[in-house]
Amino acid sequence: MIIVMTDPTTEQIDRVLGKIRQHDLDVHCLKSYGKTIITAIGDSAGYNAEFYERMPGVEKVVSILTPFKLVSREFRQENTVVKAGSAVFGDNAISIIAGPCAVEGYEQLLETAIAVKKAGACMLRGGAYKPRTSPYSFQGLEQEGLTILKAVSEEVGIPVISEVTDPRTVEIMSQHVDMLQIGTRNMQNFVLLKEVARSGRPVLLKRGASATMEEWLMAAEYIMAGGNENIVLCERGIRTFETYTRNTLDLNAVPLIKQLSHLPIIVDPSHGTGNWRLVNPMSKASLGAGADGLIIEVHPCPEEAVSDGKQSLTPCNFEQLIKELQLMANAMGRVI
Ligand code: PEP
Ligand code: MN
Repeated sequence: MIIVMTDPTTEQIDRVLGKIRQHDLDVHCLKSYGKTIITAIGDSAGYNAEFYERMPGVEKVVSILTPFKLVSREFRQENTVVKAGSAVFGDNAISIIAGPCAVEGYEQLLETAIAVKKAGACMLRGGAYKPRTSPYSFQGLEQEGLTILKAVSEEVGIPVISEVTDPRTVEIMSQHVDMLQIGTRNMQNFVLLKEVARSGRPVLLKRGASATMEEWLMAAEYIMAGGNENIVLCERGIRTFETYTRNTLDLNAVPLIKQLSHLPIIVDPSHGTGNWRLVNPMSKASLGAGADGLIIEVHPCPEEAVSDGKQSLTPCNFEQLIKELQLMANAMGRVI
């Protein structure tokens, strides 16, 4: 733990040092340029950083004991901005990714792409390799889906994102999409994380359905430690006892991750709720919580979708949502 004190009195310093000694930590004190920097090393159970933060004269406490280092706010104070094609995440703009759960065909994707781009989306989504709970469900168009994604991307002029489920397909996917999505089921697939790190492609790292925020940040640490800094986190709901919604959208994650990490964070209200009627209000809640963007499922005809039709917006619903979000963004001094 590093305690930074600004122009402290001798008494204030002594109080902090006295408290640290009570916790049996090794302590070093350094004075430079009006700051007093106190380093305390020892068992993390022996102190409570929040307590020191509230002591008079203390500017900030930097814990060097967090298991995630490179993705931590301590490591980098300023927000990281991630670029994927023409899409940008983590600046003042609210970046919206939209499109179908799965690529079902050229026409379906083209129609969706034109509609979501016109409404204000900066990136098109579409699964080509679908990680389905049942082996009997549609598994995605695979390589053909990637070809369609690339063709539609070029025709409409919008960057694309798709989920990568297997380390062996990272290379081929990187040739077809602007951003690689790691889905909830693979958040702790460490072989896959290392491979996407090697690819250097921007990565959207979704939170595991049962992952703590620390486990999620440790997964991001794998990618950053592997040399790829282009990571956007995505809260997509966690598993709880509630059954009326598909998942419980944990919006605590947005402000908390902002405190813990310099990485951008977006929200997926489609998987987070499983219900298209909840997507509009939860998108607004996500913006209110400070999200850098959203990823929303949109299908030209949700009742005919091969996957996740229940949570998909029609292009018309989506256009209306973006109009409403634009008003909110303006009031918050942000843009879409
Ligand atoms: C998806 O985005 O289509 C998807 C499968 O999401 P998740 O991994 O969050 O379930
Ligand atoms: Mn889906």
